[in-house]
Amino acid sequence: MISKNALECIRADFSDIDEQYRNIEQEIWGLEETSIVKKYLGLQKKKSELATKRKNLYSLMKYGEYENCEHLWGLSMNEYGEYDCFCVKCGINDKAMKLSNRGKEDSLSFDERVMASVLEEHDYNDDSDINIVCDKELAMALYKKIREYHPNIDDKTVIKYFEIALDDIRNIEVSDERKKSRAKRLGLRRDFNRWK
Ligand SMILES: [Zn+2]
Repeated sequence: MISKNALECIRADFSDIDEQYRNIEQEIWGLEETSIVKKYLGLQKKKSELATKRKNLYSLMKYGEYENCEHLWGLSMNEYGEYDCFCVKCGINDKAMKLSNRGKEDSLSFDERVMASVLEEHDYNDDSDINIVCDKELAMALYKKIREYHPNIDDKTVIKYFEIALDDIRNIEVSDERKKSRAKRLGLRRDFNRWK
């Protein structure tokens, strides 16, 4: 129980803090009347409205992009030692759906949530088109490079080039410097090291 003496002290402290609080509140109200702060508050409000619209449109746009892609499936090994199927073109990854099925939705990024919802709505063939297990980032970078050089070849030919390129990467030993410059050429992080 709080004693009467203690209560007196608490009351005094409260009244002191309350006065400071009200003074600051008054000061803030005063500032809100100035034109620059009015402008700031207006912009903040607009920004947060746009942020909501932007997020909704982004999710619709990604959904549509994943739906309209003619996927080319590759396989990667995840940290649980399982195979994940991903598309080398658009990056949709069935890891997102696996995690969401395991109730780990909280660990999904915004983009992965969109992926999971697309995968839940559509039945995709389980077969991988590319039968070499390969890191997703590397696979997407290789695909992009091959497409840059050969914009008009069909997917089957892309796979052939892809497998040759990956074989070379894995079988030809090069120095760390060369690996760094290769990562740079492919648009990967300089310290990328998941070549195998
Ligand atoms: Zn795709």
